[in-house]
Amino acid sequence: MSRVTPAITAFIGLGSNLENPRAQVEQALAELAQLPDTRLTGQSPLYQSRAVGPGEQPDYINAVARIITHLEPLALLDQLQAVEQAHQRVRLERWGPRTLDLDLLLYDGQVIDHPRLQVPHPYLAQRSFVLYPLAAIDPQLVLPCGTRLAALLAQTPADGLRVIN
Ligand code: ATP
Ligand code: CA
Ligand code: CA
Repeated sequence: MSRVTPAITAFIGLGSNLENPRAQVEQALAELAQLPDTRLTGQSPLYQSRAVGPGEQPDYINAVARIITHLEPLALLDQLQAVEQAHQRVRLERWGPRTLDLDLLLYDGQVIDHPRLQVPHPYLAQRSFVLYPLAAIDPQLVLPCGTRLAALLAQTPADGLRVIN
């Protein structure tokens, strides 16, 4: 059974720094809207951020999407990884450059600790390129631990992150 009812709200982080990153992210947003048993209910502006990771890498384009889905968490992860694969993502090294990265940031108010899936995403609270786009969609958001998104933002410098249009 991969379908759950009632529908739940989830947030997906998108990132790309290879092969026309902006088009990769825009295309991925359209693909999220097409996932089975899922509706796209919000999307942040596109942001540009400096890469964190090994070596010199191109800047990232980032965004966050909000969906309403009936998919269970692992079924949703499967769908996200299928979209990554469709974007010819190749995993060479951890945090290396990539055509498309889709992270499941939040799934309802749930805390999930599974070998394939940790929710909230483990680095959510430390990443400006996640926190700022999340706030653009839902500034009132509260994490499952009770921490307010606004409180995290207040202690996280934008660090070169900028909205592109
Ligand atoms: P980071 O997790 O620091 O953002 P990354 O996105 O580069 O790094 P990936 O190589 O894309 O890491 O993913 C590695 C594995 O992380 C995936 O195979 C997946 O099973 C697992 N994973 C655990 N939690 C999540 C999550 N919340 N969203 C997406 N993948 C997750
Ligand atoms: Ca990631
Ligand atoms: Ca990932």
